[in-house]
Amino acid sequence: MKIILPDDVKFIISRLISNGYEAYAVGGCVRDSIIRRAPGDWDITTSARPEDVKKLFRHTVDTGIMHGTVTVMLHRVGYEVTTYRLDGEYEDGRHPKNVEFTKSLVEDLKRRDFTINAMAYNDEDGLVDEFGGREDLQAGIIRCVGEPAERFGEDALRMLRAVRFSAQLGFDIESATENAVKELAPTIAKVSKERVHTEFGKILLSPHPEYMGKICVYGLSRYVFPEFDRIADKETALRLAGKVPAEFFFRYAALLYGLGEEGVRNALKKLKLDNRTVDGAAKLAAFHGTGITQSEKNIRRLASRWGEEGFSNALEFEACYYDVTGQYEAAAEIDEERRLFGIIKDRGDCLDTKNLAVDGKTLISCGIEPGKEVGRLLKECLDAVLDEPELNTKERLLERLGLKSRDA
Ligand code: ATP
Ligand code: MG
Repeated sequence: MKIILPDDVKFIISRLISNGYEAYAVGGCVRDSIIRRAPGDWDITTSARPEDVKKLFRHTVDTGIMHGTVTVMLHRVGYEVTTYRLDGEYEDGRHPKNVEFTKSLVEDLKRRDFTINAMAYNDEDGLVDEFGGREDLQAGIIRCVGEPAERFGEDALRMLRAVRFSAQLGFDIESATENAVKELAPTIAKVSKERVHTEFGKILLSPHPEYMGKICVYGLSRYVFPEFDRIADKETALRLAGKVPAEFFFRYAALLYGLGEEGVRNALKKLKLDNRTVDGAAKLAAFHGTGITQSEKNIRRLASRWGEEGFSNALEFEACYYDVTGQYEAAAEIDEERRLFGIIKDRGDCLDTKNLAVDGKTLISCGIEPGKEVGRLLKECLDAVLDEPELNTKERLLERLGLKSRDA
């Protein structure tokens, strides 16, 4: 088994080895290389202690010295170099209580979650695969290293990671591993929201967002995503999640639109997602099912109300929804609505007060008192212009308001 290591990784490994230590690429990068998936990052595992690693490289960052991790910087890329370690019991499903270093690579591999993530590689020794990771990788199986219940007991997040890797790789979860997830599902409750939503995010942006359904099947959702449990038509929601663009707000909206705007907002806030995701998804849910129009006037009004981007996203969401639910006529009508909106945008029709031919200054120069009245009149202009774009000239708008420009 030969894996082509990037030059910088080779450099780090050979520098450690030539100084009397052991060092290997490990985990995700080895897994991904074997299946010809581009590794996200290259992690290195070594017998050297963090202080020894720091002596050997010019630029290092103390990322997690307590846990044995030093980041080596080469050509502006960071490589996490971690000392072989045994993990103690996980206190809160987050931080190992006590980190113990070890001299043995195999001991370090043993603490890793799944067989496919527990392989190491360097050019001298080739692949180190003590737990049948390569075989599982070839067969498409997620399997715990060791006794599944024990491993999930140490860190409950691993249950969600199992679902995440299965979604990213399109793999099945081996039955003993799967049974342990079902059995220990309630313990997922103690994992922090941040760790949970990181895994959700990876599932939702994977090639199989519909695998989110597994969290319900396994009984995990009750504890970490009860709002999704309440969705009546999960099948549509999951298929929609696989259809909408690969962005968090689209994908969460697909799962939860059935809860309506406020329901979506509350559910996503509880997961501690960022505002962009929360607002974006809530907006899509609010728009959902509000109807289809082919009138340019209405389209301009909608675009003005929802914002160009918001409206455009909402139409895309609706198109996916009608497609997934087999309402092809409605889907075609949405396509037509999108086409008309495209024309409106290309023509540069005014859709907000910023693009009016008059602004606050113009109105004030016509004798309007600065203040609320200015805003009200601009709104009135916009209202008129949305119906009739050709009204958007200074003269026509002022005439409409019964105003005369002083410099005219
Ligand atoms: P990704 O492509 O998402 O980075 P990865 O496999 O590199 O996938 P990481 O979360 O970056 O996943 O973890 C790196 C490695 O550390 C894993 O491959 C695994 O060996 C080990 N690991 C990470 N988290 C855990 C955990 N909670 N329990 C056990 N081992 C873990
Ligand atoms: Mg990684």
